[in-house]
Amino acid sequence: MATEWVDFKKVKEAVDMQMVLDHYGIKRLTKSGDERRGPCPIHKGSPRSKNFTVNIRKNAFNCFSSNCKARGNVLDFVAAMENCDVRAAALKLAEWFKIGESEQSSPEHVEANGDVLEVSPGIYSDPNGGLFEVITTALSGEDLESLVVYRELFGDYRHWVASVQNFGSTDCKFTLVKAL
Ligand SMILES: [Zn+2]
Repeated sequence: MATEWVDFKKVKEAVDMQMVLDHYGIKRLTKSGDERRGPCPIHKGSPRSKNFTVNIRKNAFNCFSSNCKARGNVLDFVAAMENCDVRAAALKLAEWFKIGESEQSSPEHVEANGDVLEVSPGIYSDPNGGLFEVITTALSGEDLESLVVYRELFGDYRHWVASVQNFGSTDCKFTLVKAL
């Protein structure tokens, strides 16, 4: 989702290093004032090393190992842990900690969940007396439209799909004979 918008500042304000450490289950850090020290989760240093320091108040981290030297803020930390860029890291944080979700709900999502038309499984008849069995409903993989999956109970017993909107509408040619 390349067009997804993310507010870096908002994410940085909402998430502190402690929350991120908790998210990763990083608990074995020695506490000293605002500082936490321990093995670096980024370059996966030896469990006894204390190259990695976090300053909770400054919301920053720093690894002193000469072959790692990772440092930065919460976004840099997640980017290093996930091996992604800071933008992807911000999106992950927004998702993990539910930041700004109310403002960013996607319209498709609302549509897919709202106003769901139902066509119950059962035997239906068309105006010519042909019988059809509605087997289930399904979602179109292309546009998430609700579809009815049904088959004819005569001839070749072929399977069909129709949009729920058409099948379930009041001027629909199908009438329910027997619910299943
Ligand atoms: Zn490191």
